[in-house]
Amino acid sequence: MGVFEAIGNDSHERVVVGNDPSTGLKAIIAIYSTQLGPALGGTRLFPYQNDEAALVDALRLARAMALKASAAGLSLGGGKAVIIGDRTLVTDDFWRSYGRLIDSLGGAYITAEDVGTTTGDMRVIAQETRWVTGRAVKDDGGGDPSPVTARGVMRAMMATSRYLWDRDSLHGCRVAVQGVGKVGSSLVRHLVDEGADVVIADVRQDSADALVEELGVKSVPTDEILSQDCDILSPCSLGGALNPETIPGLRCHAIVGSANNQLATDTDAAALAARDILYVPDFIANAAGLIHVASEVDGSDAGARVEGLYDSVLTVLEKASKEGVTPHEAAVRLAEDRIRREGSGTTFRHGGGE
Ligand code: NAD
Repeated sequence: MGVFEAIGNDSHERVVVGNDPSTGLKAIIAIYSTQLGPALGGTRLFPYQNDEAALVDALRLARAMALKASAAGLSLGGGKAVIIGDRTLVTDDFWRSYGRLIDSLGGAYITAEDVGTTTGDMRVIAQETRWVTGRAVKDDGGGDPSPVTARGVMRAMMATSRYLWDRDSLHGCRVAVQGVGKVGSSLVRHLVDEGADVVIADVRQDSADALVEELGVKSVPTDEILSQDCDILSPCSLGGALNPETIPGLRCHAIVGSANNQLATDTDAAALAARDILYVPDFIANAAGLIHVASEVDGSDAGARVEGLYDSVLTVLEKASKEGVTPHEAAVRLAEDRIRREGSGTTFRHGGGE
């Protein structure tokens, strides 16, 4: 598949390939848009089966970042980088080479931590470029965004409860959480504090057991979590949890989670609506992590924006109902409208050494 074929009807501005045989670096940086600001998005280090899989992932993730930044009202575009390989490649030279690649884009793309990369990696990258964020607190960064992401998911759940059941409180609400890693575990603590009735599952049984022990929540096998009879299902593990195989078995009223790309494809949003399940778009529900990282870039106060996700969710749900479309479609329209309305109207806006 060629690059333009992979882009298809999307409107990515730029795709950059970085190749450094001396360190083993093979990177693809996809920039969806710089119309609202520099394209911020993490670097994923993953052993993709081939170049095409890496390219498609970078393009898809870059668009999702642009929609997320726009919907959250941030002055940022969207981009994402993928590196083909695993941590056996990692050396300081490897990250410094990658840092120079980012630097060569002159600020069009700002990177951060993502799957397979760490705040420590960002510290090494920062030796070569200032276009990096998501660093540890000890390195003058904002630290791990996960607790903030979890708070944002809570706000999205409260708005969902307001919309469906006319109350903000999650007291007594039955919530099933798939994945209790950095975000999921923090979310479960918030939910228990609010008096919700929580059931969890994680492929890492030790993580699930620790929360059962600490909080008295219930744990079920991972192949049962998506079909729990509950009010809210919260996918907080990997993407693609909502697909033609899983959707028929769901027994929830709403879905609000932190995972990126929860829908395997956009058509799954319609399948959820047909089953009368309210799906809060992932890029709205999990935007607090980006809001937190963005505050590191522009010094803005993330707190009010994170709390404001409550209003964002209600706006999306009301627009969807008014326009007779799925919440996913309504959120995409809102995000793309803002890029058109408030964007510079010109591509390749950032980069070139500002
Ligand atoms: P994490 O790796 O800390 O946690 C993910 C957890 O899911 C792990 O404990 C893993 O064992 C578990 N898991 C994997 N497959 C599973 C399965 N099939 N069933 C049950 N559990 C499974 O990651 P995280 O930082 O908590 O992020 C969770 C999700 O939220 C990811 O999709 C991430 O992209 C997204 N997200 C995270 C942030 C953030 O601030 N960390 C921000 C936005 C979006």
